Amino acid sequence: MDQFKALWIDKLADEKPTATFKEISLDDLSEGDVVVKLSHSTVNYKDGLCLAGNPGVLRKTPMVPGIDVIGEVVSSQSPDFKNGDQVIMNGFGVGEVHTGAFAQYARLKSKWLIKRPEGLSAAHAAAIGTAGYTAMLCVMALEDYGITPDKGPIAITGASGGVGSVALSILSKLGYETIAFTGRMQEETFLKQLGASEVRDRASLSEKGRPFAKEQWAGAVDVAGSHTLANLLAATKYGGAVAACGLAQGADLQTTVMPFILRGVALLGVDSVQASLQKRQKAYDRLLTDLDMNRLEALSTTIKLEDVPEYAKAILEGKVRGRLIVDIEG
Ligand code: NDP
Repeated sequence: MDQFKALWIDKLADEKPTATFKEISLDDLSEGDVVVKLSHSTVNYKDGLCLAGNPGVLRKTPMVPGIDVIGEVVSSQSPDFKNGDQVIMNGFGVGEVHTGAFAQYARLKSKWLIKRPEGLSAAHAAAIGTAGYTAMLCVMALEDYGITPDKGPIAITGASGGVGSVALSILSKLGYETIAFTGRMQEETFLKQLGASEVRDRASLSEKGRPFAKEQWAGAVDVAGSHTLANLLAATKYGGAVAACGLAQGADLQTTVMPFILRGVALLGVDSVQASLQKRQKAYDRLLTDLDMNRLEALSTTIKLEDVPEYAKAILEGKVRGRLIVDIEG
């Protein structure tokens, strides 16, 4: 492994960062006690932001982007991992401040790794990736708040995207009635195949609305933020909750306290990046039982490492459907 292929982002002086493929060595990677040979990765919205040079994500250059690592340990100084162990790593600033996944090898801190569960293939782990594992965290947050299927439907925004499509698949398998919001009504059949009870145009949530609206759903998984999140809160039933994880529409949130103080609605923040290993392990165990792997395959597209820049651009334009699997050796 003297030299291997990596997507490399560099920034010269005041210029815009540029991403190019180049041959690098382990010495070019950030410090860590475990080296992983990648079999797969994926492209998330955040990877799109990183390749576009968004300074909130690309926090250090030069950088190997890629926030999800799926592969095999080939060298370890940690007593917790040995050569041949199959591992998963999502987040922890990898691909942002620590060299990441769009390369044949990654050097990582063992405290970030979980062992890939028995029964979960490397390709399925990539299809899940940060987006899918975050979808599971959102569902767990709603469950922890007591939102059971008998309480009423769950609204899901960005339903054709990564977090949304996986959340929809999980919730429908768990027996929830689901309302999928999308800007791509042409995907209605696809979303119904994933289990959507109803598909609605996201435009109905996009504009500034009233602070208090007719009660429509017991819970929601929101990837959009901004007016969408405010409108979701305004139409959440008494005692319901909204799990918020994203900012696809915007990072702002203009709302009032009315849904909170008159309906006891809760806003549940979901973060995947710094979640504890225990929580991650629980999420993956749940994904094994509560995500239909046939549906996961139906919502996934496999691409090659060379295709990453093209798809990173497309994901920011809302043109990627479901999840992407990057076959590193493909
Ligand atoms: P994707 O790009 O795969 O999906 C996002 C979807 O949001 C799009 O496909 C589109 O779906 C919808 N969307 C796009 N623009 C808008 C808009 N203006 N208003 C409403 N909906 C819109 O991204 P991911 O699923 O990977 O990530 C979704 C969000 O969640 C991102 O903001 C990401 O940063 C965040 N995230 C946060 C995590 C955390 O730890 N908190 C972890 C993972 C993701 P459609 O066409 O169906 O409307």
